[in-house]
Amino acid sequence: MTLTILFAAGPARWPTYEPHLAAALAEAGIAARLVTEAAPEEVDYIVYAPGGTVQDFTPYTRCKAVLNLWAGVERIVGNPTLTQPLCRMVDPALTAGMVEWVTGHVLRHHLGMDRHIVNPDHVWAPEPPPLAAERPVAMLGLGELGRACAAMLVALGFPVRGWSRSPRVVDGIACHHGDAGLQAALTGAEIVVTLLPATPDTENLLDARRLGWLAPGAAIINPGRGTLIDDAALLAALDAGRIGHATLDVFRVEPLPADHPYWAHPRVTVTPHVAAETRPASASRMVAENIRRGEAGEPFLHRVDRDRGY
Ligand code: NAP
Repeated sequence: MTLTILFAAGPARWPTYEPHLAAALAEAGIAARLVTEAAPEEVDYIVYAPGGTVQDFTPYTRCKAVLNLWAGVERIVGNPTLTQPLCRMVDPALTAGMVEWVTGHVLRHHLGMDRHIVNPDHVWAPEPPPLAAERPVAMLGLGELGRACAAMLVALGFPVRGWSRSPRVVDGIACHHGDAGLQAALTGAEIVVTLLPATPDTENLLDARRLGWLAPGAAIINPGRGTLIDDAALLAALDAGRIGHATLDVFRVEPLPADHPYWAHPRVTVTPHVAAETRPASASRMVAENIRRGEAGEPFLHRVDRDRGY
């Protein structure tokens, strides 16, 4: 049987994705009609991205799954018309990109690179950084991305404390979970990396009280979602020097508005949601694998739990 797969991830992505999806489906032995328009009742699977062409999933009565190209699902998980299974993207290339981005920014703060890169007065002030082993790092989120980043930081010698919703055991990391575990993960941490999803439970997680648990002058690195941070509390802590620097990749409003105080703040680095991109070749293989599973009656990979919101 030839499946109808609707690419509803936006016309801009179609020219890039079309050849990769076609190749991945062929490689998986799936006969498919890959289209950007179709009668809803004929569609077997939808490939989706936020801002894509389908908002009302009600007429897609035959659709067996909606396959999101993004790791984060906060912009689709609450759609009341979506009753089909929703799968999020776990792409090995996206994970590799996140590990590189997080490691680079952790090392920037750990080594104090800025002092030497921007030194207009040519100040000779040798202040060797401590070793990684002396710099506690908190990794909030121990999912696909948090675990991969933590593993790299552990390999570099950082003592890493991890935090997740449910109990987890991860080699080389002191794992904490739940409300009670957050204080243990954050207290005295000198660098915090936030790789949590945007859900009602994680909204404003880093507020004034919790920022106060960190070591004085700690660095915040947020490639997760903008909603994880209470912006006013972070700005106040940066102004007071209690937080030394914030490297922020994600924001409540994107693009970050031109007049947002983060742009001009001397202790903030803004990056424009570039920490980790879904890569079309490897993501297409993931989409094809989930379609293969759907057709074989096997459970989908990375299915989103609607109640948890991620
Ligand atoms: P994931 O595999 O679903 O992992 C999420 C982690 O967050 C899990 O460890 C989960 O705990 C934890 N968590 C969720 N809610 C929590 C809560 N209320 N309290 C404590 N821990 C909680 O997700 P992922 O693939 O690692 O991705 C993480 C996030 O990164 C995505 O949701 C997305 O927002 C962001 N992201 C950003 C970019 C970028 O370019 N900036 C790219 C990709 C992804 P459990 O282990 O107990 O489930």
